Amino acid sequence: MENKKAINRYKLPVPKDRLQRTDRTSSPAHLGNLRNAIDFIADEQTPVLAAADGIVNFVKDSSTAGGSNPMYWDYTNFIVIRHLKGEYSRYDHLSYHSATVKVGQHVRAAEKIARVGMTGYTYLPHLHFQVFCSYWN
Ligand SMILES: [Zn+2]
Repeated sequence: MENKKAINRYKLPVPKDRLQRTDRTSSPAHLGNLRNAIDFIADEQTPVLAAADGIVNFVKDSSTAGGSNPMYWDYTNFIVIRHLKGEYSRYDHLSYHSATVKVGQHVRAAEKIARVGMTGYTYLPHLHFQVFCSYWN
């Protein structure tokens, strides 16, 4: 398995004073393509921040369902932002109707884009954050 490294620099996707801890091992979902993901443990409704400048690529915040059962996998609310060099960042488990950005919108690093929620397959309130690249795989 090749170790991929992001080219761009990414900031914390939640406010530092709201972050309880990060976790890379506890989630059962961090396998395969998700092996580079990081969970930022924070209370529900904590602001989610763009990790770098970019353009919003995808927004879904219509789901109200979530919990500690894999049946909820597809119910995650998430945002994808496209950055320079073909890199993307993805933010998962967002709160229902919390997105404050639209597809095509330019965002700045540290700009608020949504709030932490419990949608999708998740045991506790956290932001599932991942950087990926269209050239990886
Ligand atoms: Zn996660």
